[in-house]
Parts: sequence; C-alpha cells; structure tokens
Amino acid sequence: MGISLKNVQKVYKSGDVAVQALKNVSVHIPEGTISVILGPSGSGKSTLLNVIGGIDRPTEGEVHVFHEPVHELTDQQLTEYRRKHVGFIFQSYNLIPTLTVYENVEVGAEISKAPLSIDEVLKGVGMYDKKDKFPQQLSGGEQQRVAIARALVKNPRLLLCDEPTGALDEETGKKILRLLQDVHKQYGTTILIITHNPGISAMANWVVKMKSGELVECIENVHPISAEKVDWI
Ligand code: ADP
Repeated sequence: MGISLKNVQKVYKSGDVAVQALKNVSVHIPEGTISVILGPSGSGKSTLLNVIGGIDRPTEGEVHVFHEPVHELTDQQLTEYRRKHVGFIFQSYNLIPTLTVYENVEVGAEISKAPLSIDEVLKGVGMYDKKDKFPQQLSGGEQQRVAIARALVKNPRLLLCDEPTGALDEETGKKILRLLQDVHKQYGTTILIITHNPGISAMANWVVKMKSGELVECIENVHPISAEKVDWI
C-alpha cells in the first residue's frame, strides 16, 4: 500500500501550445513515510503533488493512493477522496482573513466526517493561546502553524506540502519541519514535501528528484535526521 504512479503523463494545453509537465513518471512511495520532492522551478513538482492529491488529473497513466484508483475517479469521487484522505499545505498559508485562528481550523473540521478535536490540534501546533486572533495579527510561521492545524484536524492519511517553508526564515522553517516530523510520528501520516532546498531531503525517508517533468531518481534515506539538524541551503 502507499502511493503508486505508473507511466503518468500530464500535458497542459493552452491554444496550440502543449506543455508536458510530467513525462512517463512511475514511482512507489510506501505509506507512513516522509518524502521530499526536489527539483528546479518548472520541473513538475507541483503537478506531481496535484495529481497525487486529486486536484489535477493525469493525461495518461495510473495513480493509486491507498488502493484508490485516483486516475479513474469521477469528479464527485475525487472530492470525496480529497475530503477523506488529503490535507494540503501551501507556501502562502491561504487562511481566511476574516476568520479567527479557531474558525479557520473549524473550516477544516467541518469538511471531515471524523475530525480531531480543534483544541487538541491547536495545542499540538502551539497556537492554542492565539486561537482568537486573526491571521493578520500573526507572524508567517504562526500562520503556517494554523494552516497545518487546518489540514491536520481532518486527520488525513496523506499530507501534501507545497514549499511549506518557502516563505520562512531558517529558525521558523525548522520549527515547521519539526512539527511535520512530530505529526508523522504521532499519527503515522504519509507526508510529501515539495522543496527546492536540498538540505531538507536529509530528514525524509524518500527523496524524489524531478527534472524537466521527468523523475530522475527516487532514493531511500535509511537514516533520516531530525529537522533541527537540517542544513538550510
Ligand atoms: P514546479 O512545481 O516544479 O515549479 P510545475 O509542476 O508547477 O513545476 O510546472 C511544470 C510545468 O508545467 C511548467 O512548465 C509549468 O509552466 C507548466 N504548468 C503547470 N501548471 C500549468 C497549467 N495549469 N497550465 C499550463 N501549464 C502549466
């Protein structure tokens, strides 16, 4: 079980121009692991994440996530799949500015059939004391904690993180990575992290390298290091 991609292609067409964002990508990522997806800008990292998360459909190929044939699901089934299994975290937090910290996390809880306790999750990410604040009253690192809480309250099996530390300084970024490691340890969540910081790959179980839409290599890291020891490049 886990995530399996077989000969996945993704072509974006706009007018006469076709961009091949994923070229024949095949990979298997075991459940309950942390993977880092590395590669330069435009190499297909976000497309890969979106295809796995059921935001985008592959043009060709197969995507299985926890035995769900994601490539075959109808739109309605894809919505269910995302609700049930997937939490997303982005570089740009995407919090709702008119809602408090608590209410932002509540939004995540409302779309889940079996949410975790909002208070517990807020305590877990260290934001319980600020639950009545609004996003603009928080630092970038604090906003990212709330975004993580919003994703986690659903208790997803899969947590997809697109450049989660891209807008943060080293100290704050490492605290966010520590939080992701803690989540992995506590809930056994399968976590995929997109980054262009190669130092972060040392804390992952698997490192997937992308280049020009191709998967260059997928390497197992037998001894992942703790987030604090990551070399911030
Ligand atoms: P990365 O995340 O590594 O920066 P992306 O997956 O975002 O790379 O993009 C891969 C390629 O696909 C790029 O050439 C990008 O311009 C193109 N692309 C991504 N999304 C779209 C889209 N919605 N429409 C057209 N082209 C896209």
